[in-house]
Amino acid sequence: MIIVMKQNASEENVEHLIKVIHGKGLETHLSTGKQVTIIGVVGDKSQLTYDNLEIFEGVDKIVPVTESYKLSSKKFHPEPTTIKVKNASIGPGTLTIIAGPCAVETEEQLMSIAKAVKKAGASIVRGGAYKPRTSPYSFQGLEEAGLRYMKEASEETGLATICEVVSLDAINTAVKYVDMIQIGARNMQNFFLLKEAGKSGLPVVLKRGLAATIDEWLNAAEYIISEGNPHVILCERGIRTFETSTRNTLDLSAIPVLRSKTHFPIIVDPSHATGVRDYVPSLAKAGIAVGADGLMIEVHNDPENSMSDGPQSLTFQQFEELTKELAPYSSLVGRAFGI
Ligand code: PEP
Ligand code: MN
Repeated sequence: MIIVMKQNASEENVEHLIKVIHGKGLETHLSTGKQVTIIGVVGDKSQLTYDNLEIFEGVDKIVPVTESYKLSSKKFHPEPTTIKVKNASIGPGTLTIIAGPCAVETEEQLMSIAKAVKKAGASIVRGGAYKPRTSPYSFQGLEEAGLRYMKEASEETGLATICEVVSLDAINTAVKYVDMIQIGARNMQNFFLLKEAGKSGLPVVLKRGLAATIDEWLNAAEYIISEGNPHVILCERGIRTFETSTRNTLDLSAIPVLRSKTHFPIIVDPSHATGVRDYVPSLAKAGIAVGADGLMIEVHNDPENSMSDGPQSLTFQQFEELTKELAPYSSLVGRAFGI
């Protein structure tokens, strides 16, 4: 449940309530918005009677949260969350572009891609150093060396960096080199990993599982925020359907649905959604139209010889053309492009 405080409630009122709730063995999470302060309560609520809390000084109302996720819910945090990383700001009013290769392959490859995507308008460079590949015989990533190249690329370009993590070991290494981490579709319900990502304190891009419902996805996000890390960005990257002409099916309806349920920023990945570079521009535009806060796009210096996901990767020129096309779409929906 959540406790909504009156606008004129004092800090003492809030502190007193929190003390009483903790005294009953429950946990509290405070959300201090511009208009209103909300106390989220998690734990065995049979210890509390709603009526008693309602008459505490400063309390406006008690709202039960029926969803199994609480802190991810808009009820707990009515204002949209903005996540700031280096010069990037992911949230309302901006359209953030995350771009880069599927996998970091060499120092030179990543550096050239980082410079190219920056020039075209990206503010965050992506690159996988731990690749969860379908086949164990496919390229698995450069691991720590790849992360080191990410840091070098960031120092050279000023771009923020993001890399997928697949284990606790990978998280502990990634925190030394990158600004954000990504939990991939295949690990969306790896609850141990989600908790560790929460403990890392770094912003986390949480991709939608291959066959995950929106409810399951938000519960996965709850694992991160319940560890005290509110910096979660949800990434729609397509789901498995009966359609085989694209790699996955981009669920565009997920964006307005999520918007109605959660305060987290939402981005769209048209590259993994389609698996085909020719379809990436249309779905990037569609993502903006349905309200995404940003896009994640795979770009490669030499897609034909890419070690993973070449067919969906844009060349530098294609990416530059695309960002030129996207900028007016972004202003049409009231978002500053490339921040
Ligand atoms: C990726 O972004 O590199 C990736 C593997 O994506 P997904 O987890 O969405 O398949
Ligand atoms: Mn990829």
